[in-house]
Amino acid sequence: MKYDVIIIGAGPGGIFSAYELMKTCPDKKVAVFEAGHPLEKRKCPIDGKHVKACINCPTCAIMNGFGGAGAFSDGKYNITNDFGGTLYEYIGKEKALELMHYVDEINLSHGGEGTRMYSTAGSEFKKLCMQNKLTLLEASVRHLGTDINYVVLKNLYDELKDYAEFFFDTSVVRIEAVDGGGCRVFTENGSAECEDCIISVGRSGSKWMEQVCADLGLPTKSNRVDIGVRVELPAVIFSHLTDQLYESKIVYRTAKFEDSVRTFCMNPNGIVVNENTNGIVTVNGHSFEDPARKTNNTNFALLVAKHFSEPFKDSNGYGESIARLSNMLGGGVIVQRFGDLERGRRSNWKRIEKGTVSPTLAATPGDLSLVLPKRILDGIIEMIYALDKIAPGTANDDTLLYGVEVKFYNMEVQLDENLQTAYKGLYVIGTAAV
Ligand SMILES: Cc1cc2nc3c(=O)[nH]c(=O)nc-3n(C[C@H](O)[C@H](O)[C@H](O)COP(=O)(O)OP(=O)(O)OC[C@H]3O[C@@H](n4cnc5c(N)ncnc54)[C@H](O)[C@@H]3O)c2cc1C
Repeated sequence: MKYDVIIIGAGPGGIFSAYELMKTCPDKKVAVFEAGHPLEKRKCPIDGKHVKACINCPTCAIMNGFGGAGAFSDGKYNITNDFGGTLYEYIGKEKALELMHYVDEINLSHGGEGTRMYSTAGSEFKKLCMQNKLTLLEASVRHLGTDINYVVLKNLYDELKDYAEFFFDTSVVRIEAVDGGGCRVFTENGSAECEDCIISVGRSGSKWMEQVCADLGLPTKSNRVDIGVRVELPAVIFSHLTDQLYESKIVYRTAKFEDSVRTFCMNPNGIVVNENTNGIVTVNGHSFEDPARKTNNTNFALLVAKHFSEPFKDSNGYGESIARLSNMLGGGVIVQRFGDLERGRRSNWKRIEKGTVSPTLAATPGDLSLVLPKRILDGIIEMIYALDKIAPGTANDDTLLYGVEVKFYNMEVQLDENLQTAYKGLYVIGTAAV
């Protein structure tokens, strides 16, 4: 098989690459290899009744398949250079923002019209945060919602399928660079050649990507992992922030260690969900645009950034080990009342049920202090008290903490300003790169 362009991975990076090729080079022969299923076949077997925990499917329906890792996410598109990647380091801040607005327009024209754009610009919360040792990061955020996000992805696929050849349930196992440019891509069913190859394998492809870099001798670096908990509380406590900003990214510098703790992925009136990364169950959050699916709770992550220095290189391995510990103790995700954590005792269902927050995820009541390193836990507790000053009630005894939430970072591959590797025609994009 011979193609002009092969795209590996059908997450946002792969989808928008194919979309752009369709618009600018309609005559090119393009193939997309995706390890997961087509969008409509993506269904996690965990239903809370018959299947309560992860059964380690060969490819995870949440992380893999058309739409990528965020297909069933909250559908928030953050338009900012302040967080969410370092694309601006390659193409400049202005161009990066321009491209984010361009993607937003495509989403709007594929089913997202009528959805709301929120912004921190001119918000009075900036001052309130500053007065309480917190920093509110600048961003505009388009909230599509999990439901509309699905519609947009479906519409994009319907348009792309007549242009690009999609191979689902087809993992690329190996890549060879061809002398003089181009690549040979190997799957379990055979191989294909192309002049240009775009690797967009996201977080779930991070281990595979490490191998590709080792095989091809591509220089990399990796030294960061973010570890923390997901906080769930009555929506009314954060409503003054979420009504205006929807998602507020707030950063706190801890007094004791000067570590950075930040809020991440805020889901007003949303639900807490399990997430499976390489067989380890961690926690995440969703929210829906449909009023019928809204809950009375808001959830968000509090993450502590951990940077390592030489000789330690396996920051993701460190995060995985902590997540594995919570899986070992809780059989999956652990939930604890903030009051129980502060009193140094394990939560139980009786105390949680008596509380004012009804959990939206059936996790195992436990003790997060047996899982999270002291430094990380101290940072989270400090941040909860700091947030309590701008959103009183955050530090209530009944606030629920789910653990652990881990944000893994892929190895950074050395790329030029076109996101091209040292090999002509081999590009790495999306979470896999920046
Ligand atoms: C639960 C969750 C919620 C999120 N919520 C949001 C949000 O609300 N807003 C936001 O901006 N971001 C969110 N994110 C982050 C967002 O999903 C990612 O930034 C985005 O998906 C990255 O796109 P990508 O194309 O780089 O990678 P991915 O979306 O991860 O796509 C990579 C694809 O490559 C495939 N793949 C991997 N290895 C191979 C291989 N060897 N061969 C073939 N295919 C392969 C995978 O199956 C996957 O489908 C969320 C992420 C998660 C996990």
